Amino acid sequence: MKRVCLTVLLLTAFLLTGAEKNGRGAVCFTFDDYAGANWLKADALFKKYNAHVTFFIVGAITPEKIEVMKKLQSAGHSIGLHSIHHRNAVPLPEKWDMKKYFECEVKPQLEVCRKHKINVRGFAYPNNRRNEVTDQELFKHFDYLRAGLGKAKKTLFYGKKETASKMVLGGGGIGAYYKSDVNALKKILKEAADRNKMIVFFSHNIYSGAKHVHMPSEMLEELLKYASALGMRVVGINEIKSLELR
Ligand SMILES: [Zn+2]
Repeated sequence: MKRVCLTVLLLTAFLLTGAEKNGRGAVCFTFDDYAGANWLKADALFKKYNAHVTFFIVGAITPEKIEVMKKLQSAGHSIGLHSIHHRNAVPLPEKWDMKKYFECEVKPQLEVCRKHKINVRGFAYPNNRRNEVTDQELFKHFDYLRAGLGKAKKTLFYGKKETASKMVLGGGGIGAYYKSDVNALKKILKEAADRNKMIVFFSHNIYSGAKHVHMPSEMLEELLKYASALGMRVVGINEIKSLELR
């Protein structure tokens, strides 16, 4: 009898912990362009807070980049692509259509990644420029298309319904250029946790005292610490399907 009680108790505790873990919203931090060495360095910080993020890589996929991608992937992060020449998809270069865009800007990256078993499921639009036509073409190859918040700059909160299928992830920029304020960001995290929704952010390089469009590691740590205290999950795009959002 005692053993049964203990089992029930342990099972209840396990379920409660699980529910709490899955019930306090989620945040996707995404990082664009390429900062291999600094991204690898930042992994210690991500590990400290049990966080996974997404890296969207620009340019030709060199052997050096493959090594970095493999290391980040095996640390649990998600890898996405960000085009060969950082060309806008909206407007397209003259005389191009989206098929040509895919052939020139995306396919060469995708092929190298597949060859090296990098699990690529997402693409971040250069300069966040997209529309429904570009989405339609790129959804043939990707499950997640990362863009910005549009002109309104209003935070988007995603729930069960939106994350059930392929989706455009509208993210808010973090860095001095985006006039990021850590307290305002914490408020957004708190709202996502309370409503059990997912939010998305984007930045670029990560280092101490970073300016411009980059993520200061001090701010990153403060946000990770806060998200962790709220019981939020910090996930890469490949883990979105495992979230139990409202
Ligand atoms: Zn970029």
